[in-house]
This record gives sequence, C-alpha cells and structure tokens, in this order.
Amino acid sequence: MADTKVRVQDDLYEYVNGDWEKTAEIPADKATTGGFSDLDTNVEKILMADFKAFADGSKKVPDKYLKQAVLLYKKALDFKARDESGVKPTLARLAKIQGLKSLSVFNGELPALYKNLYRLPFRIGVDTNMKDTAHHALILAGPDTILPDTSYYKDGNPSGPKLLALWSQTTDAVLKHFPLSDDDRATYIKDTLAFDKLVAARVKSSEEWAEYNKCYNPTPVKDVQAKLAPVAFEKLVESVYGKVPEEVIVFDPRFLTEFSGLFNKSTFTLYVHWSYVLEALSDTAYLSDELRILGGAFNRALSGSKVAPSQEKHAYRLANRMFSEPVGIYYGKTYFGEKAKADVIDMVKSIVKTYEARLTANTWLSPETKAKAVVKLEKMILKMGYPDKPQALYDKLKVDPKADLFTAVTKLEKAKQAYGDSLLYEPVDRTIWVMPGHLVNACYNPTVNDITFPAAILQAPFYSIKQSRSENLGGIGTVIGHEISHAFDNNGAQCDEYGNLNNWWKPKDFEIFKGKTQAMIDEFNGLDFSGGKVNGKLIVSENIADNGGMAAALQTAKEDKDVDLKGFFLNYARVWRLKERPEYAQLLLAVDVHAPHYLRADIQPRNFPEWYEAFDVKPTDKMYIQPSKRVNIW
Ligand SMILES: [Zn+2]
Repeated sequence: MADTKVRVQDDLYEYVNGDWEKTAEIPADKATTGGFSDLDTNVEKILMADFKAFADGSKKVPDKYLKQAVLLYKKALDFKARDESGVKPTLARLAKIQGLKSLSVFNGELPALYKNLYRLPFRIGVDTNMKDTAHHALILAGPDTILPDTSYYKDGNPSGPKLLALWSQTTDAVLKHFPLSDDDRATYIKDTLAFDKLVAARVKSSEEWAEYNKCYNPTPVKDVQAKLAPVAFEKLVESVYGKVPEEVIVFDPRFLTEFSGLFNKSTFTLYVHWSYVLEALSDTAYLSDELRILGGAFNRALSGSKVAPSQEKHAYRLANRMFSEPVGIYYGKTYFGEKAKADVIDMVKSIVKTYEARLTANTWLSPETKAKAVVKLEKMILKMGYPDKPQALYDKLKVDPKADLFTAVTKLEKAKQAYGDSLLYEPVDRTIWVMPGHLVNACYNPTVNDITFPAAILQAPFYSIKQSRSENLGGIGTVIGHEISHAFDNNGAQCDEYGNLNNWWKPKDFEIFKGKTQAMIDEFNGLDFSGGKVNGKLIVSENIADNGGMAAALQTAKEDKDVDLKGFFLNYARVWRLKERPEYAQLLLAVDVHAPHYLRADIQPRNFPEWYEAFDVKPTDKMYIQPSKRVNIW
C-alpha cells in the first residue's frame, strides 16, 4: 500500500511506509515498532508461548540446556518468593563493598572481588587477539558510564544534565529500599555522580569506539601495572589466569594513561560508593516486582518506553539472555524451513559470485590489491540458520534449584566470566557463532572473516518464497551484500582473510579508498533526523556496507531475465520501516553505528543509476543527486 500523496521520486521511504506510519502504534513497553522490531516481537511471542508450555508441562522440554533455561524462567516468575525476600539476597554483597575501607583492603580482596563480579574501576577480559586471531589476548578498558555516551557529558549538551538529574531521582527511589540512612543515600548518589564524571572524562566515545584498529594497543604488562598503580594488577592477573601474559591489549589507551586521576587515595571513597550504587541498581532486576519496575525506570526514560515489560516477558527475557544459543537452536530446529535455508544459501552464493566479479572489474584498485581482496572474499566463512550444538560454555551453566533468583543469576554470571577467562591460553574456536538463531539480525565478524545469518532474519519482508526474486534481493539480498561489504569497510579493509589486523593494500589504493570513505562521511554528516544531527564518522562503516550491499544485490537482480527494479527498491524501503519514540531516536543518534532507518532507505538508492532508471527520477525530483555527487565504493 503506497501513500498516494507522496511521489516515490521525492521520498521513497514515505511513499512505501507513509500510510503505515500514520496508524502504527508503538506498544507501551517498547521504544519502536515496524520492520525488525515487529519480527522480533513475533519471535518473542512464539518462544514465550513455548516457554509457558515447557514450564506447565504441556510441552516436553527438548534438551538438557532448555531444561536449565526453563528452571531459571520459573524461578524468575516466582514473584511470591521474590516479593517475600525483598533486598535480603543482596545484603551480603553490598556489605562486602562497604567493607572496603582502604586501598590496601581493596588490593588484598582484589582477585576475589573480580571473580565474584564486583565492579572495579577498570575492565579486564579475554578476547581474540586482533593481530593473531588464532589466539586470545588479555584486554583492558575503562568502565561504563551512567549515560550511554560520553558526548552527553560535554559542555553544551542539554540532555546530559537533565538525564543525570532524572537518574539521581530514580536511583534515590531505588536506594530507599536498601539499608542506607537518608544522609548516606544522598552522599552515595553524589559520590557516584562524581566518580562517573571522572570516568566519562577518560573513556572513549561511541565515535572513537567505532574505529576498530584503534583498539589494538599491545602494552607490556609491566607498563600497565605502572600506570594502574595503586592497583595490584599483576597479582590480580596471576590469580585469575594462572600466569601473567607478556602484554595486555589496551582498548582505551587514554583511559590507562589518565587512570591515576580516576583512582587514588582521595577518590577511593567515591569508587566504593559508585560500586555500591551501581550494584544495587543492577540487582533490582532479580528482586521484588516493585524493585524490578523501579530499577528499570531510568532506562525506560532513556528509550521512551512507557511501562516495564510484563512479568512473563521479563522472565522469558532473562532465561533467553542466559541461554540464548540453545534457545536459538531450538527455534531454528522447530520453526526454520529447510527449503528457505537452501534458497537463501543459493542467494548468498550468487551474491558472493557477483561480488567477486565486481572486485575483478573494479577500476580504482591495482591488480595486486584486487587479488588480495578476492582471496579475502573466497576465504569468507558462511554461518546460516543456527549452529549444530551449543558451545562448551552451556555445559557449565547450571541453575541452582535451591537458591533465590538473585543468587542463582549471580552464580550463572560467575560461571560465564570464569569460562571466558579460562580461554586465555586456549586457541580460538572459529566455529563459534556470535549471534543466536532466533535473533532478527545478521553480522560480519572481522576477527574470523565470517558472515552469520540467523534463522529469524530469513522472514518477510527480508525474505519470502511468496516474494519475487527481485523483491527478496532488495530485502535479504541487500543485507547479505551489506555483511559481505563489512569485510571491505573502513575497519574490515584493515584485516586480512583470517581476520588479522594486517595491511594488504598498496598505499596508493588505500589513499583512494580513504577519499571514498570521506565522501561517504560527507554524504551523511549533519543530516537532520528527529531534531538532532547525524554524525557521519560514527556511522561510516555501516554506510559503506549499505552501499556495497546495494551494489552487489542490484547487479545480482539484473542478471535475472525478469528483473523488477521497482520491486527491488520498494521492498528495500519496506525493510527499513520503523517508528520510534523521540527519546530513543536521540539515543541512537549518539551511540548507534547505523544511520537512522529513514536515511538508510532514502539516501543510498540515489547513489545508483538503477534508482534513476527504475522510477525515471529527474533532476527536479527530491531524490535526485548529480552524478558527480554519487558515492560508489564497492
Ligand atoms: Zn552492518
């Protein structure tokens, strides 16, 4: 159904989605509706019905992993027990934090604090070594800030102070349930904000995080220790990992350099209060219903959602978060047709073939760089639907049947962290999936050079056997091309066929690529959206992927005798249909590496001659740009 008032040549998104947008309503417990969001809601509805049936015994629980998930689900739904115990389950942990009376007590307890998931003034963990992706590395970064991005803390950002005031108010309401005097409560909140401000001044912004290669800062462990003083860092590492590695990959080097101003004798009490308050806030998710709702108030304000999810939804989401991979396998096995799988694999193969042809025909790369790009494409691994079996982690996740919910979840989280830490000296398993089968999404993993398409994204409007091939190529085809293009976006271009940070470009070619990347930044930078401005640099990698994805999908569509370019673009715009709350749009502008949905639909098509051909778009139309201004990369 097209909106008859808007011409497609002036606004493709509005033409396709305008009528829908007029009547679509965002559910009270959500921030968005339409597109991805609707598919997500449907998947959730199906799985929630299944969990309910598993729990009441009317459906047989299919495997041992789901048995654990259902046990957790039932525990989460037992609000009688949760309401009765109030904050009691958390008191021992909170007292432990208050017992940190000095830096030397802190250092003495540090390994136990880490292993028991207490908040530290820095984060460590195990990740793939970006320059040697067959192996793992120890990584270091700063803690999270209260607001979703450091840009909120900059002078002149009016949202920041308002949100922090709201945070103080909602936190005060939560802390009233914990054993703190009125004076202490005020002090704890004030100190938490002071410590958070020190963190925010030192950690990366979303825009900085978007530059993948800048996370790779191998630093001798001795130097890290020197900069993290007074923290007994080496002792911590030795206790957790058995032996101390020679180097640490510092994701956020400025944070490390400026650490001494964050954490020292004079800020120690701020840290303790910060740790207490953030612990109490996150614990509310597993306590009484009143606290669960109070504890979610700030995040609801950030996203604009009006009410907390129902108790059932909350219980399902918790079980799903802990056991996502087994839940995804169950979803895939139960609801994903083999016919669709074969059909989409076929489509991926044809788009990869098109991609190879496009790389070979590329006019701005030297033959040497071109050959390397083709090798990278040929080595790309495809993960389609869902994995054969859950990774070994899930054998470690046992729900304690006797424990209260909070204690049971803490044990699961501890097991998860310990499992991740046990991998430091183990080789990387490249067969692991980074997305579960029931997620409506797709991804490219730069450290493995693989693309993943979970079963749940292979639905209309992305894909349907009822849609024409051109329509499917405008939907899932552009997504497939998008994920492949991530191998060659501004970040992927710096990794080789095994995902190692390794420059395979001739310098002259890379200079041209950088110019094209800048043109893509310029095409989006400063565009208006929902009362804010788009940050072209933050979203450049995703825009390069959208651009390359559309190029490959269009060329694949044109190989068909009965190609339907109109159908291609109309379904492309349908995929990006989304209505969101203004608060949520603001949040995404600050942190999301993707362009707003409306601009994804309306900007990319105008870079391609097929758009002008399909709808006879003329220079007087709003969706016309001069050929010299059109950006084409891959
Ligand atoms: Zn992407």
